Amino acid sequence: MFGLIGHLTSLEHAQSVARELGYPEYADQGLDFWCSAPPQIVDTIKVTSVTGQQIEGRYVESCFLPEMLATRRIKAATRKIVNAMAHAQKHGINITALGGFSSIIFENFNLQQIRQVRNVKLEFERFTTGNTHTAYIICRQVEQASQKLGIELSKATVAVCGATGDIGSAICRWLDARTDVAELLLVARNQERLQVLQEELGRGKIMSLDEALPQADIVVWVASMPKGVEIDPTTLKQPCLLIDGGYPKNLANLLQHPGVHVLNGGIVEHSLDIDWRIMSIVNMDVPARQLFACFAESMLLEFEKLYTNFSWGRNQITLEKMDLIGQVSVKHGFRPLLV
Ligand code: NDP
Repeated sequence: MFGLIGHLTSLEHAQSVARELGYPEYADQGLDFWCSAPPQIVDTIKVTSVTGQQIEGRYVESCFLPEMLATRRIKAATRKIVNAMAHAQKHGINITALGGFSSIIFENFNLQQIRQVRNVKLEFERFTTGNTHTAYIICRQVEQASQKLGIELSKATVAVCGATGDIGSAICRWLDARTDVAELLLVARNQERLQVLQEELGRGKIMSLDEALPQADIVVWVASMPKGVEIDPTTLKQPCLLIDGGYPKNLANLLQHPGVHVLNGGIVEHSLDIDWRIMSIVNMDVPARQLFACFAESMLLEFEKLYTNFSWGRNQITLEKMDLIGQVSVKHGFRPLLV
């Protein structure tokens, strides 16, 4: 059995979902209530591969909300993640993806030190961040969506916002090694980490976001921002492809501007309907078929019986692992979202 640990995008979102799902006692509560709410399994999932194989999974709502970070309720945020992991393990789930901020919190607050959660000794090999598949899917989106828009990679400048992150650095490695992209712009705040990445790649220009945006034909957003940013579309090139891989979305205001194309990044579409409710709750356009690539990674590992923490730690995603997860992604009928 596979598992997905997820969370909602804001307190407002959580309140409206609680109302919709028939939990009025959650719907009227503020952040303090969500800080103390325990994890819950709220969905049972059945997925069929195009090979005919069928698997079953569970969705674990961690009750984490991004506002917990913004208001420095760090202890509550970290407790949400380890409690959700213990909950998944206690229910016998073999491989669980840590969706959205779950893996970021796990890494940033060194949660690998916490092995014991009440009577559960966490077995980390039962968890994966899902970041290898996410990075692979975003790279395929860069390649395929640019072609559709007539942007030639060999002449294109690609800015990666969040370049030094787990997903961002893997994307930079892929774009460097597997494509003939003309120029890479590396955007993040910590200059030291940017320099390490630039040295590893042997290329790339380090830039602030404001400098990078007007120069980029393609912008990949994989920065871990609890809230989105507003950008002025008139400063962008035309055409410009913006691939927003953040969760919550980095581009708060979906840009409505001629020549500016925004694509939901890190999203896959399955060839067959999936029996679940959870993707309509996060407002996916085609909830029966579209899902986060990190969630799909735990499905793929379950299909392949690869019970291992395939994506783990920071900045350790290799091209070989991206190839492997890419092959099984295609084999089981997933493809990158392109519209
Ligand atoms: P990391 O924490 O590993 O990396 C985040 C990157 O963003 C770092 O380079 C960080 O560098 C940079 N960053 C953070 N804040 C800012 C800012 N204000 N301005 C510019 N750069 C910033 O995160 P991940 O790679 O694990 O995840 C990245 C995003 O992808 C998240 O939004 C996550 O929720 C999403 N995601 C999507 C998935 C999907 O399936 N679609 C799956 C998993 C994650 P610095 O701190 O130096 O600025």
